[in-house]
Amino acid sequence: RAKADGRGTFCFFREEMAHTVEARRILELDLRKALANEEFELYYQPLVNLKTGRITTCEALLRWNHPVRGTVSPVDIIPVAEEMGLIVDLGRWILRKACMECMMWPKQVSVAVNFSSQQFHQRDILNEVRYALEVSGLPASRLEIEITESSLLRNTQFTHDALAQLHGEGVRIALDDFGTGYSSLSYLHTFPLQKVKIDRSFLEGIDSDRPLTLLRGVARLSADLGMSVVVEGIETNEQLELISADGTVTEAQGYLFSRPVPAARVRKLLTASHGERQKDGKVLSIPL
Ligand code: C2E
Ligand code: MG
Ligand code: MG
Ligand code: MG
Repeated sequence: RAKADGRGTFCFFREEMAHTVEARRILELDLRKALANEEFELYYQPLVNLKTGRITTCEALLRWNHPVRGTVSPVDIIPVAEEMGLIVDLGRWILRKACMECMMWPKQVSVAVNFSSQQFHQRDILNEVRYALEVSGLPASRLEIEITESSLLRNTQFTHDALAQLHGEGVRIALDDFGTGYSSLSYLHTFPLQKVKIDRSFLEGIDSDRPLTLLRGVARLSADLGMSVVVEGIETNEQLELISADGTVTEAQGYLFSRPVPAARVRKLLTASHGERQKDGKVLSIPL
């Protein structure tokens, strides 16, 4: 019996594995074709300055319009592209596309591009960025690069040098998803960073009973260290009021203002919203 069960389990396991391996193989094949077939697209989500109520930056977020599966999330794409070594080509496409699309926006608006760790640790990262700026004509001051804590901590000497060079070019560097790792901000601050994006997990429960202490503390420390502070994932007016109250948070991003939207839509939105000033300096929900 035990033997039979064991065999049963084993067969089942093998089938499952075959299924997974097969599914994975198909995904990889599809991913390789996707770049050539122009199935990738960048959506954009605005970051709003809390004092002026204006959009300062739009973050580029990858989408894959798969012919059969429909829209595939970057969470499912990026790790696989990294393992396949495809991330360098994909990242290059993302960077150039984002720079070109930003060129069609009002001059006051920047674009933020997420860099995966592997992409950031390529030897010629500086040339990649220079080239993207050159072919698009985008000034370096309108490009913001978002990197996560784990990619900062990998190969720290290289990272220091690369960040310093990029910053020297005039590009801004933002630390993404801050608070999801374990490093202290005072350590992270030894890297040349201009912006900290506080992860939306810090917002959990703040509009009910959990105190804001942690979020406010992190925001204040970042500001004291000379970095501008963004809070990600604002979904309600209550959250917006709470994070705006003490004036340390510079910008906010989240569904309250806008979900990520296709390039054509963000372009229209920016052209419309940058024409006139907002009356009372209050942040308005952006009509889409
Ligand atoms: P991220 O860079 O932290 O981007 C923010 C994510 O939070 C986006 O998910 C965005 O749609 C979502 N978000 C924004 N506001 C809200 C909100 O109010 N509520 C909630 N629940 N979510 C909100 P998305 O587009 O699925 O991207 C997920 C992650 O995938 C990104 O996190 C980033 O790490 C990665 N990613 C996306 N695009 C790229 C890319 O072009 N290159 C690389 N390397 N990674 C990317
Ligand atoms: Mg990001
Ligand atoms: Mg983020
Ligand atoms: Mg995040």
